[in-house]
Amino acid sequence: MGLITMTRVKKRKSGGCFAAAIVTAAIFAAGVIFEKAFEGLEKLPEYGTETAVNVTLQNTKAAEVPVNRFLILVNGENKIPDDYKIELTELSNGEKVDSEIYPDLQKMFDDMRDEGIYPVVGEGYRTRERQQEIMADKIRAYENEGYSEKKAEEMAKEWVAVPGTSEHELGLAVDINADKEKSDNQEVYDWLYENAYKYGFILRYPIGKTLITGIDYEPWHYRYVGEYAEKIHKSGLCLEEWLEKNS
Ligand SMILES: [Zn+2]
Repeated sequence: MGLITMTRVKKRKSGGCFAAAIVTAAIFAAGVIFEKAFEGLEKLPEYGTETAVNVTLQNTKAAEVPVNRFLILVNGENKIPDDYKIELTELSNGEKVDSEIYPDLQKMFDDMRDEGIYPVVGEGYRTRERQQEIMADKIRAYENEGYSEKKAEEMAKEWVAVPGTSEHELGLAVDINADKEKSDNQEVYDWLYENAYKYGFILRYPIGKTLITGIDYEPWHYRYVGEYAEKIHKSGLCLEEWLEKNS
C-alpha cells in the first residue's frame, strides 16, 4: 500500500523564530509579506512552544559521514558534504525519502492507521536548490520590508536552515502531520512521540533543546537513525548530545 493520499502541507522551515514572527506580524500586518512570515503557522505545536535561538553559523564545516550513515549529524555547524550520495524512493504524494528508510516509514504508517490515526508526510527530501530558493525568497521578503541586505540575511537565517544544513537534504528527515479529515495533529504527534523510535525514528528537535539544536521544538520533524533510535529516545538526549556522549 502506498504511503499517502494527502494534500501537501505547507510548513514553516526549520530554524524558525516564533517570537520574531509575532513581531513581524505586528509590524507588517498586511499583504504578501504578512502571508510569507506566517506560512505554515498552523503547524506550530499546540503546546510547549519555546523561544528560538538565532544560531550564528561561524564554523560551518562538512559533516563527517560515520560508518553508520544514519548517525550523520547535520546542523548549523555541520554541513552535508557535497559528495553525499542519496538514493531516493518517491511516495505516493510525490514526496521523496532515502530508499533505505522507506520500509520502516511504511510500516510505521501502516501501524498508525491500524490504530485509527492517519498521518501524512508533509515534507521529506528537499534538494539543495530548493533550500537555496527558500532562503533567497526569505531574504528578498525582508529586503522588501526595508531591511538592509545584511540584516535581511541575518533575519532569514532565523527562519530558514542555511542550504546544506537542513536534514531534509539528507532524505533521512520527514515532517509528519495529520491527514486533517481523519485525525488531528496532536494525536499524530503524541503517537509518534510514544512509538516512532520502534521504527528507527527520533524526535529531532525536542522541547528544551533549542539552544543545542539551534531549532525550535518541532513535534512533526522525525529523523531516521535506525537501530539506535530506542537508545537515543530513552536517553532523553537530543542527537547532538547523544553523539557527543557516545563517540
Ligand atoms: Zn522538518
